[in-house]
Amino acid sequence: MHAIRLEGPRLLKLAEVPMPETDGRQVRMRVCACGICGSDLHYWQSGLGMDGKPGLILGHEFCGTVDDPGPRSDLAKEARITALPLNPCGFCESCTGGLSHLCLQGMKRPIPGNNSPGAFAEYMLLRPDMVRALPDSISDKQAVLIEPAAVALHAVRQAGIKVGDRVLIVGGGPIGVLVAAWARIAGAGLVVLSEVDAFRRAFAKSRGDVDAVLNGKDPELVCKLKKLSGSGFDMAIETSAKDQGCHAALAALKPRGTLVLAGISFAAQQIPTLLAVIKEIRILGAFAYHLDEFDTALTFIAEKRLAVEDLVTKTIGFDEVQNTFQQLSSPLPDQMKVMIKP
Ligand SMILES: [Zn+2]
Ligand SMILES: [Zn+2]
Repeated sequence: MHAIRLEGPRLLKLAEVPMPETDGRQVRMRVCACGICGSDLHYWQSGLGMDGKPGLILGHEFCGTVDDPGPRSDLAKEARITALPLNPCGFCESCTGGLSHLCLQGMKRPIPGNNSPGAFAEYMLLRPDMVRALPDSISDKQAVLIEPAAVALHAVRQAGIKVGDRVLIVGGGPIGVLVAAWARIAGAGLVVLSEVDAFRRAFAKSRGDVDAVLNGKDPELVCKLKKLSGSGFDMAIETSAKDQGCHAALAALKPRGTLVLAGISFAAQQIPTLLAVIKEIRILGAFAYHLDEFDTALTFIAEKRLAVEDLVTKTIGFDEVQNTFQQLSSPLPDQMKVMIKP
């Protein structure tokens, strides 16, 4: 089969690789579509998977059809499916405590698209209990956004948004705009988003979930945020993983406000801890999602309560993947989610 392999720093290549063999304990999926995620770009930059080895097949936001159902006898061949790209052990303290997304075995276990073959390929193997059937009401474009929508939902749940809360979202990439949508669903009274890129600001505005969109590079940003929120935001969800973003969030929060760090930066960040101290800010991380949050995202998308299809701004074939990664790594990619179709 064909697959896109990460062969070195900033180098993805189309390769002929063996068809993944199942031993009867996995589901084999024929891939229909896969989204490109910010974390894929991190791997692309380094040329190595999470295990520090080259040759990884990326891709963890996918959908497809059943090629071999394996132990999932409830699934017909050709049935449309997706899956959680997680592989919790089920036995550790996190897993037994309902936090399987924080499994203590972590990356010691194979995780699709991170340290084991992902969906930039014609076929891939899936852990049977992670597979979800897709209703016909969900298109491929919508299906590849279930996973990012689950990430955004988890960040919103971590923030603990209540009806009427004033919410600041830093970063207007796919996760930022999905956080805005969930914040609205959760009942936020004021939703403000800051973003440095003009294309993404216009996109966020077009979605209608935000009351105001501000330029993240505006020197008056903090001043404008304070004006918009009155006495400060109740919570801020930082999705950009940039120092300036964390700074703006801490400055714009009310005393005892909540900062949720939902962006991924492989480099250490500098944040003004003094602001957190003197305002007694509660700082929380948000990583991945609970299994049921993935299912909630799927249901909300299927029932058209969460609009995601417009986030796919480009669809490409295998031959365009390397060029597209180059474009996406530029400061102004002018894209939201790019979807690959094998
Ligand atoms: Zn992702
Ligand atoms: Zn575990």
